[in-house]
This record gives sequence, structure tokens and C-alpha cells, in this order.
Amino acid sequence: MRQYELVERVAAYKPNLDEALLNRAYVYAMQKHGSQKRVNGDPYFSHPLEVAAILTNLHLDEATIAVALLHDTIEDTDATRKEIDQVFGHKIGTLVEGLTKLKRLDLVSKKAEQAENLRKLLLAIADDIRVLLVKLADRLHNMRTLHHMKPEKRSRIAQETMDIYAPLAGRMGMQDMREELENLAFKHINPEAHETVTARLAELLEKHADTIAKIEETLAERLKEQGIVAVVSGRQKKPYSVFSKMQRKALSLEQLSDIFGFRVIVDDEEDCYRTLGIVHRTWPLVPGRFKDYISIPKQNDYRSIHTTIVGPSRQRVELQIRTHAMHHIAEYGIAAHELYKDGEHALSTESSAYAWLRRTIEMLAEGDQPEEFLENTKLELFQDQVFCFTPKGRLIAMPRGATPIDFAYAVHTDVGDTCVGCKIDGRIMPVVTELTNGDEVEIIRSKAATPPPAWEGVVVTGKARSAIRRAARLAIRKQYCGLGQQILERTFTRAGKTFAREGLKPYLSKVGFRDVEDALAAVGRGELPSSDVFRAVHPDYQDTRASKPTMKPEEEGWFNLRTAAGLIFKMPGLGKLRGGEAPTPIPIRGAGDDTAVQFGPDGAVPGDRIVGILEPGKGITIYPIQSPALTAFDDEPDRWIDVRWDLDAELTTRFPARIRISALNEPGTLAEIAETIALNDANIHNLSMVATAPDVTVMMVDLEVWDLQHLTRTLNQLRGKACVTDVVRVNG
Ligand code: MN
Repeated sequence: MRQYELVERVAAYKPNLDEALLNRAYVYAMQKHGSQKRVNGDPYFSHPLEVAAILTNLHLDEATIAVALLHDTIEDTDATRKEIDQVFGHKIGTLVEGLTKLKRLDLVSKKAEQAENLRKLLLAIADDIRVLLVKLADRLHNMRTLHHMKPEKRSRIAQETMDIYAPLAGRMGMQDMREELENLAFKHINPEAHETVTARLAELLEKHADTIAKIEETLAERLKEQGIVAVVSGRQKKPYSVFSKMQRKALSLEQLSDIFGFRVIVDDEEDCYRTLGIVHRTWPLVPGRFKDYISIPKQNDYRSIHTTIVGPSRQRVELQIRTHAMHHIAEYGIAAHELYKDGEHALSTESSAYAWLRRTIEMLAEGDQPEEFLENTKLELFQDQVFCFTPKGRLIAMPRGATPIDFAYAVHTDVGDTCVGCKIDGRIMPVVTELTNGDEVEIIRSKAATPPPAWEGVVVTGKARSAIRRAARLAIRKQYCGLGQQILERTFTRAGKTFAREGLKPYLSKVGFRDVEDALAAVGRGELPSSDVFRAVHPDYQDTRASKPTMKPEEEGWFNLRTAAGLIFKMPGLGKLRGGEAPTPIPIRGAGDDTAVQFGPDGAVPGDRIVGILEPGKGITIYPIQSPALTAFDDEPDRWIDVRWDLDAELTTRFPARIRISALNEPGTLAEIAETIALNDANIHNLSMVATAPDVTVMMVDLEVWDLQHLTRTLNQLRGKACVTDVVRVNG
């Protein structure tokens, strides 16, 4: 951008500007930065110029723009505070010096330092809010060009942006600034999640493009009929806000339905409420989502009406209804208040965002303990996050609801994978405890540990969740490898040979594998017959023994079941299956007394979080919240029923849960499994063989159990059996 372009931009919103001041600052900064280059080879001066341009979008006064042009001169060139005072006056000198101090602060540092640095930051911005506005624009440009920064600086800058500057922009009511900062930081901190969410959003947008356009059209028509002048624009949620909502509510991307929105901007407050009436008469609203921030503004001065409606193809659409003036404040926040534009540092008394800042500063003046300050202030600033510390004082910021498991994974994936317990402020606590601000968390580790799959349902951060899944996959693979090894050892021994894992290598290509582990796992899963491996190693071996079935027909009477692989058998008589008495009603609250209730195919037991799906003509079907079957109902939000278990101690009802057992294909296996289940006081309701391979049998068993604890105990007993290689709950 040229000098005259900058002046023209400011003149467009501030006709009586001090043009000379802008020109002087432009020339001074350009000369001072001289031939300095940014990492990408651009002249350094392009950076302060872009920062100034960002601030012209916020319509700030020429003094602020001048400060933007000068903001790096004291730190990075031979310019001095004294010289700037002489050329531009004391006020601008103070602001530039404030920014110079901020540049030296490392906000992602040790606990005590961090508190002190944040204190300095708030003190610097409290002096004159324009310091913050320039700092935010500076950070925004640095984030936009993060790939031009030195690699070792990038992570710190991205983290600091996510933890401090984006929430601060939000707190000051600058929503656009906050969203852009968050998304740029998100892209760097979690590139995979960013990519996934972005791709999925684009996909959904395309899928629903027609209906969205139709809603927009209908809305514009109805408003026109009623004589309301309105600007209607579509808006899609930003990847980070979608991602953080998924984390907060532990939802999958598929379960998030309200990612489309419209903004309706009208002339006055009266029209806002008339528009609301039209919207609610046209489409059904989603209960509990209506918010009137016009009558009760948010703390950062934000005003708007929010409501969510169900569109023609059942997708949810959020509407924001506001006036032009409200829109201006929603976008520019504290920068929208007229007084800043006049170059005065007196601040509008109407701004409650500023009032918050004032209160914070007062508290600062009183408290002299940096830690106490952290507790009081920072925490109010970042309401949807919790801040905890490692024993060495490193700060870990997490979404609200985070547990020590999330904390462990946030520190390092290895710490999470080996976490077995924790101390919170020195006391041993359960790892599922919800952390609160200021907690010092020490993770107790065991090298031999692997994270239990159940943790997946407890954690709130994506990092922890994906790491737990990965560990579960690895553990299963390891089990299959071990099983493959056992099977091969037995096959080789039967033929009077010895199996050696490493001896397998030269023969792998014959059975189509490159890696010993892969081959062992394939044998374990029953995909690769052990006899094939044996023949590959000993091609000339002559089997002199008579071939015999793997199972004797007379064995325990189970023969029929095995030959009928794939068919479902009713199995009464096993265990203590209830018989005779009338079925007890299923005690579930929220379903209504006269509604028929049944369970989904994979069952649900007390202790599971459950939801109900309304099935026309059938009543309500209950699923555990994590059931993949639920994705089929994503686009039908009004079929979802909020249900809860309603149990009392006298209850004598058992509940269904489907499990999948992989077991060695050996005589007596099935009997042993049935006995184990019976001894655990669980019933077998159905049993079916889903796959039999030469060495492994996989069966689906529908159990009836008292609750989740009972189910877990039964599964653990089964896992302890030598013949059982794997037991998992299906969809549970
Ligand atoms: Mn800068």
C-alpha cells in the first residue's frame, strides 16, 4: 500500500484528519526500517503498513494509525522514545513505548512470570486502549504471515494467540478479530483437526446449498411483505468454533447440526422483534436456543437476538437479528466507540467492556500476589477455559470440563499414554476429576500402562480422545500378534518343528507380507491360515498324521452351534435367564408412561449415557450416546428424546448388551465361555457365530446384565480366560 492510499483510506471515514501526522509517521517508519527484511524477503516496512491497514478497517483515528506504523521502531531500529516524542509528541511516544514493552513479554512462560507478564499487558492496555488495538492488529498480521516467522517462534506465538489474544479480543467485543485469530492459531496448533473440520464444513455446505438458499429467499420475501427493510446474509460457522463446540459437548462432527446461520440486519429495535415474529411463524424453532441479548446485552456490549429454527430438510439454522448499530459494535467492539476515533484517551462510559477492564485494573492495584491475580483476573477473562499447572509451573490451558487425563495428554502424548493416576494440589485424586482453575496437577505414570478405552468417553480434548483411540488400536494389534504367535507355535510343534519369530522373515513374501508383526496379526485375526505359514517355511513337509477335526462332535453338545455358524440361536437354559413372569417395564425417565420403549440392537445398560430416538409407530428406541447407529438420525433433530435412567435399589430388571468374543478354535472353548458368563451372574440371551477361521472363532453374544459395572466385570473375567483372545462391547 502506498502512502497516499493509506491517507485516502483514513480520509474516507474521517474527513478532517491530520494528514501531516500520517505522512510523517509513514516516512519516518519507512526510513527507520530502511533495508530491513522480513524472513520471506519482503521489506520489513510492509509489516507495520499492513498493521495500519487492519486498523483502518476498524475505522480508527490517525493517531492510532500512526502508532501502528511506528510500533516496531523502538524495538527493531535505532529510533528512541525521546526522538519519537520530539517528532510526534508525548502521547504517541507513550503508546509506541507501551507496544515496545508488550513485544518483550512472553505470555506463554512460567507460572509466576506469566502472571506478572499478563499483569503488565493489562496495565499497558489500561493506560490507553489503543495500545491493545494496535497490539491485536500486530498479532493478527503476524498470524496471517506465521509461515514467514522463524519456525522456533511459531508455536509460542500461536499458543499465546489462542490462550491470551483471541479471548482478549472477544472480551473487548471484537468478534471478527477473535474468530480470525482463533482460526489461524487453530490451524497451526492442530493442523489435522483444522483440515478435517474445514473439509467437512465445505462438504455440508455443498450438500445443503439449495435448502439454505431457499430459506434465505423465503425469509427475504416475508420480510419484504411486512415492509421490513433488511440485509440478509448467510454465514457459516468458523472451523475453530465448530471444533471447540465438539470438544465442549463431546459431540462428533456428524452430530453437530447447526453449522449454518443467517444474519438479518434491520433498521431499528422494533424491526428486530417483528423479524423474530416472522421467523418463528415461518419455521419451527428449536427449544432452548432462543436468546435475547437486546434486552440483556452481553458483558462485552454485544446485542442481538439469537434463535435456531428447523429448516425444510430438517437441518438446524441459527439466525442472528440485530440493527446496523448493534452490528457495528458486534464487529468492532470497543473500537466502535466514537471517542477513540477523536484521538482522546478518555473512554466512553457506555462501554461495559471498558468497565470490565477498569475493574480488572483496580483489582490489579490492590492485589500484589501475582498468583492471586491470576486467579482473580485471567480466569474471568477466559470463562470457557481452565488453566492448570504442571509441578514445574508450566501453564496448561484446556476447555472447561477437562480432566487430569486431558491434562496428561496436553503435556505430552507419552505422559497421557502412561498415566495411571494423579495428584491435584498434592492430593491423590481420581483421574476423572473435573479440573478447576489454578489446580496444580501431577501425573502418576507407569511405563507398562495403556489407556483404558473407557477414557475416550471421559475426556474433553480432541488430542486426548484420538490418542486413546490410537492406543486402543495398538493394544488390539498387539493382542492379535501375540495370538498369532501362539497359534503358529502350536502348529509348528504339532508337526515336530520349532517356530521362531525372526526365522519367519525370509518366507514372508510367500504369504504376501513384508512385516513379521503384520503377518502374526493376520494369523491372529484369522485372515492368514497358520498352515499357509507352515507350508511356506517347510515346503517339503509330509503330514503323516491322519487329519482330524479341530473339534470332537461329542464335545459338550456344542457341535450343532458350531456347524450352524452365522445363525442366531435362542439360548434359554444357560445361566439364570428369567422365565415365566411378565416383562418388567423398562425404567427410563423422559419417555412418558404410555410410550413403548425398546433398546437398539446393541443394547444399553444403566451407567451408559443414553438417548432415545422416536420411531413412528414403534415408540422410543434407546441407544448408548456413543452408538454409531445414531449418526443415521443426525439430520432429524426432533426425533431425539432426552432420556435418563430412573432406577431404584429394588430393581430386578436386567439390561441387554451385545459383546463380541474372539476365541481360539479349540474343543471346550464355548463351554468355558458360557460357564464364565453364568458364574458372573450374567445371562446369555442370544449367541451367534459371525466368523470362523481355521484357528479363531468370533461370536456375538447378547448378554443380560444388571448395569455397566456388572458388564465390565463380566468382560474382564472373560478376558482372563486363556481361550479368549479378545472381548469387546459392540457399540458400547
Ligand atoms: Mn510488529
